[in-house]
This record gives sequence, structure tokens and C-alpha cells, in this order.
Amino acid sequence: VPALPPEPPEAGLDQAAGFAAAWLRANCPCRRCRDPHSGQRLVSLTDLPARVRVTAGPESGGDLPVTFWPDGHQAVFSRSWLTQQSGPPADDRTEAAKRLWTRADFPAGPPAWPWPEYLARAAVREQGLTALLEEGLMLLRGVPAEPGAVLTVAASLGFVRETNYGRLFDVRVTTTPSNLAFTGLPIAPHTDNPYRDPVPTVQLLHCLEGAAAGGDSGLVDGFAAAGLLRQENPAAFGVLAGTPVTFAYADATAELRATRPLIGLDPAGRIREVRFNNRSMQPWRPGGPAGAAAGDRDPVAAAAAFYAAARAFAEILARPALMLTFRLEPGDCVAFDNTRVLHARTGFAATGTRHLQGCYADLDGVSSAVGVLRRRTHDA
Ligand SMILES: [Zn+2]
Repeated sequence: VPALPPEPPEAGLDQAAGFAAAWLRANCPCRRCRDPHSGQRLVSLTDLPARVRVTAGPESGGDLPVTFWPDGHQAVFSRSWLTQQSGPPADDRTEAAKRLWTRADFPAGPPAWPWPEYLARAAVREQGLTALLEEGLMLLRGVPAEPGAVLTVAASLGFVRETNYGRLFDVRVTTTPSNLAFTGLPIAPHTDNPYRDPVPTVQLLHCLEGAAAGGDSGLVDGFAAAGLLRQENPAAFGVLAGTPVTFAYADATAELRATRPLIGLDPAGRIREVRFNNRSMQPWRPGGPAGAAAGDRDPVAAAAAFYAAARAFAEILARPALMLTFRLEPGDCVAFDNTRVLHARTGFAATGTRHLQGCYADLDGVSSAVGVLRRRTHDA
């Protein structure tokens, strides 16, 4: 590598006001670098000098003027904007941004709002959607018990994610079910559609008719459960976080598969996603990174470790103290974070009339809706 020429004495410094020269240049707010209307950047990183230094002028009125070397580019940074840029990135999807819960946190059932008020008042929508983001669940009562109403609820919080099941799907007893959801059998806590990548991140279930007996719904905070696993059995937590597993689904018109760990972490090691569905999980296979991390143990030992870890997680998920159980009445619509909250159902009589309609949506739409709602002055 040829040595770069020495910098002249007037080049400036590696940093100003505690910000690296390269950081300041990459985020230059001037009109040539950033479109004043959209706020989008007009220059790419490769347009900038590879080596940059900065000279700061005296700060006045909250403004910090700077000159960059080597091209003499000038800009003015606002001190208040610079102050806002410190601190960790605002990823609202990890456990750090959530309020984790167990059954005891909701003695009166899921946080619920009346649908007419939710529609009429921005403050109520903000509360409900904030619960969906932070607790991972929101119950709306009094949604008209009419077919298709679940799509109206989805439109209120983002955009419907259409899948091979359609824009919406019906959950009721059928005589030749392609999916155990369409029987009267009890269903253990699971996340939906783990065989997709990206997975649908919000699920909605709207009750049109309740079952005569049974058919209660259960929700489990998967982040809380994964946190317990990390505390009680760190080795098992590490195995699940480091082992990609394939989930698959096939029927006459679809062939879906995705390979991801049961517990997904962000680069800082925080829980960011849970995928858990025993119905569609495929056989563990050797050769993943976890096999290598485990010191190239033989595949038999690695497989045994994986199933022991998965079982330990399933046992935590099955603890009654974790599961919030409630009964969906006609007109109730529950929405939950499908990357975090697992749902379950007790068995019910196959001759009953239980009929739910569900659909999928996504958390980015929910975050966006909350962000827009928070812009208003608090008079609504
Ligand atoms: Zn600039």
C-alpha cells in the first residue's frame, strides 16, 4: 500500500465538538449534500474524500461552522441537532425497547380499547398502537362481527400483508383441514408462518362467532420467555440463538421455507425475534455455524444439544404463569407482534361454530402510524 502524502499543517483535526471528521462530512447538512425538502442525502459516501479533517470556527447562537480538508467544503451544524445524534441507534424492535410481561401483569386481560373510540380519537389510537409496539398486543372490542372487518382494522395500523392464504383467512373447523389451525385440537404456543422470510410481523384475529365451550386464546411474551431461558440455562439460549433451523410449509399451491434461529439477536446480543412453531419445524441438520461454535462436536451430540435446548425453551413457554388466557368474544379483534408474542388455543368441540378471521400486517406500518400520531399537538 503506497503511503499517503503527509497532511499539511492547515488540514485541521480528526474531530470537532466530539464528532469524528468523517462522521461530520458524511452527515453534512449543507444544501449541496442534503436535499432541503426531503432531507435525503445527495452525495454518496464514495463521492467524499477518503481522508477528511475538519476545522471548527467559533460556535455562535447554537451554530457550529466547520471547514473540511482537503476540499475546503464548508457547513454549519446546529448544536441541538448534534446533541440529538448521541446515544444508541433507535431500534425499537429489540427487548431493550419493550415492556416484557407475564400473566400477572394483565389481571384484567389484554390491554383493550373500544373500536369506535379507537377510530374516533387519535389519542386512543396512539395508546393502542403503542401497546402493540411495546407490550406486543392490543385488543379492540366492538369491531363489527362482519366478514372482512379484520381488513379494516389492519388498515388502521398499517398495510395488509397478503399471502398464499389470501388477504385474510378463516379459522374454523373444516372436514379436511390442510392445517391444524382448522381443527378443534388444542394448539400449543407458536408464532405464525415461520417458514417465510420476512415473516409477517403482526397478526390480527377477529372473532365472528365464539365456540360453545373451550377455544380460549392464550398469548405468551416470547421475549420474556427467552429472557428466562437466558437466565436459567445460558448454554441452551446460546444454542438456540446460534442454530439456524428450517421451517417449511407445502400444500397444492405453495412451497415455503425459511432458515433462521428460534431466537434471533441483534449485533449487541439483545433478543430481537422469536420463531417457534413445532408444526412446521424441519429436522435439525448438522453443518450450521452453531456446529462449528460448539467445537465441531459430532453431529449426534450437536443434535442432542439442540433438541434439549428447544425442549427447555418449550417448557418455559408452556408455564401457566407466562400465558395470558382470555376468551375472544364476537366483535373482539386481537393484534399482536408475531416476532415476539406466541399464540395458543385450548381445544373446543369440533361441532361448535367458532369462527375467526385473521390477516397479517407489519410492525413498520405500526411504528409509522404511531410516529405520525405523535406529531399532532396533544389536543385530539
Ligand atoms: Zn455539504
